[in-house]
Amino acid sequence: MARNLDGLSVVITGASSGIGRAAALAFARRGACVTLAARRGAVLEAVARDCEAAGGRALAVATDVTDPAAVERLAAASVRAFGGIDVWINNAGTGVFGPFQNAALDLHRRTIEVNLLGTLHGVAAVLPLFLRRGRGTLINTVSLGGWVPTPFAAAYTASKFGLRGLTTSLRQELRGHPGIHVCGVFPAIVDTPGFEHGANVTGRALDIGPLLYAPEAVAETFVALVRRPRGEVAVGWPARAGQVAYALAPALTENLMGFAMARALDRAAPGPVTEGSLRAPSDRGTAASGGWRARKGLPRSPGSLAGALGLAALAGLALVAGTRAAQGRR
Ligand code: NDP
Repeated sequence: MARNLDGLSVVITGASSGIGRAAALAFARRGACVTLAARRGAVLEAVARDCEAAGGRALAVATDVTDPAAVERLAAASVRAFGGIDVWINNAGTGVFGPFQNAALDLHRRTIEVNLLGTLHGVAAVLPLFLRRGRGTLINTVSLGGWVPTPFAAAYTASKFGLRGLTTSLRQELRGHPGIHVCGVFPAIVDTPGFEHGANVTGRALDIGPLLYAPEAVAETFVALVRRPRGEVAVGWPARAGQVAYALAPALTENLMGFAMARALDRAAPGPVTEGSLRAPSDRGTAASGGWRARKGLPRSPGSLAGALGLAALAGLALVAGTRAAQGRR
């Protein structure tokens, strides 16, 4: 692989597993200097060793993104080690799955604190550096859940809608700085340990379905954005389909989501209630992959046939919504 990001300084939060871990390796393989942040310091050290073996330079900084002072220290450590910061990826995230009232309030609060305030802290730490140099790329991992409300994940949806608003507002605010880019990435469902790390208060076993994307697909999207920044990027056709469906027919999409989620939960097998790693980091789930595709015997990423069918379904949905709207106006 061409080492064409040689020496680029990249900070990645949530780098101890899942998408963040895949991103650390994707940048390191291209010769970048990666600063890795998450709470599990020992796991980050192992990721840093993998990154150096892959050809990059790496620094592990144990950081809880809900602590603004810790995030400031992360930025300072990266500048000390690599002379500056070119790219900052706010990727740390978590969630609570299940009926809102089944979860303790602190789990909902924690979701907002990590996903939204954690990103806000990252912006506060890096933006002054970008402004001083007149350049830099900020990437926020949003979600399909930032475009379409997800029932039984209300705090997650709130955090990701907020994150999308933050990302879009900042992009416009920084229009006068052509060297500074603000990008939002909206993945569909990705096979990561994230589902094990989130809380599950449904009392049912989670099944995240067949349309699963590889964490590496999101990592490669980050790399592509550094080369060619864009405002909002979907990873996986279900994310784009959800965006378009909600924009064209919000009430219908909302109802479909509510119906589909409630039905899936009704049909799911009983399972334990878990708090995941919201309150404290867990030993489990340190790889990029969550192992779902392997366990289900699925391909690396959904194929183009599935994509074509999905887009056809989207067109049908838009048609139905358009027809209903026209009938309603008559
Ligand atoms: P993972 O659980 O594998 O990754 C989450 C990362 O965030 C871990 O490295 C975790 O490390 C870190 N983290 C959690 N809490 C904190 C905290 N308080 N401070 C610092 N780091 C923290 O899941 P994913 O890779 O799936 O998630 C990455 C991002 O992708 C999230 O923002 C998620 O919302 C988003 N996303 C995921 C999708 C999916 O289907 N998997 C779909 C769309 C978006 P540690 O425990 O060591 O702190």
